[in-house]
Amino acid sequence: MSHTARDLAELLAGAEHAIVLTGAGVSTESGIPDFRSAGGLWEEYDPMEVASMATFMSNPERFWRFHRPRIDMLGSVEPNAAHHAIAELQRMGVVHELITQNIDRLHARAGSEGAIEVHGSLSHGRCLRCEHRVTLEELCALADAADDGVPRCEKCGFQLKSGVIMFGEPMPEAEINAAYLAADRADVVLVVGSSLQVAPVSGLPGLVIGRGGQLAILTESETPWDDRCSIRLHGRAGAVLTETVSFLQDGSSRD
Ligand SMILES: [Zn+2]
Repeated sequence: MSHTARDLAELLAGAEHAIVLTGAGVSTESGIPDFRSAGGLWEEYDPMEVASMATFMSNPERFWRFHRPRIDMLGSVEPNAAHHAIAELQRMGVVHELITQNIDRLHARAGSEGAIEVHGSLSHGRCLRCEHRVTLEELCALADAADDGVPRCEKCGFQLKSGVIMFGEPMPEAEINAAYLAADRADVVLVVGSSLQVAPVSGLPGLVIGRGGQLAILTESETPWDDRCSIRLHGRAGAVLTETVSFLQDGSSRD
């Protein structure tokens, strides 16, 4: 079955507590490749090596040689129509919580407040030894000033890490709890650009459906939840969500 932006608008309009869950697909229209898709970043690099806690601990120079240019790349892209439409849905009071797997800060830059970032975020750097925190700007300045490109803690000298959760690193407990609490309150969950294959987000649709709620999915690729969703959309996220916002703003005038 194929649905339209109008169907999605009607589902959201009838929701008591709608939440949105986003993954890499919401940022591809900004020019950030989905690392799990063909041609993605991880075809050139082995993620288990460069983005792992093991490399961060044993070879911080290699870790930072990969990550430092990536921070600049993520800072040079702009939020797209999908980010702006989701921020508008929040401002309209249609969407209550936003949960994202993305670390790129594009939701915040589009005006979304309080996104629950379950894979961490590029917003800051931190010391794993003494918990000293620095801003992203400070982190980059420390990396750029170091001979070996490794930013180090000004309190204890240990190498600093960005707030992005690495392979082999525990998930951020507060964010995971917040995501599950949001899903526990939701009667509608809209998934945008996530293939729902990675924990913790892979468990959220089941929580909403299990309590009688409804699931809407807007992704290019298939997901394990496709046969259990109420609304299934395949178009470009920016165009579909912009149209959805228009239907909601116009109310019943187009009926
Ligand atoms: Zn420290």
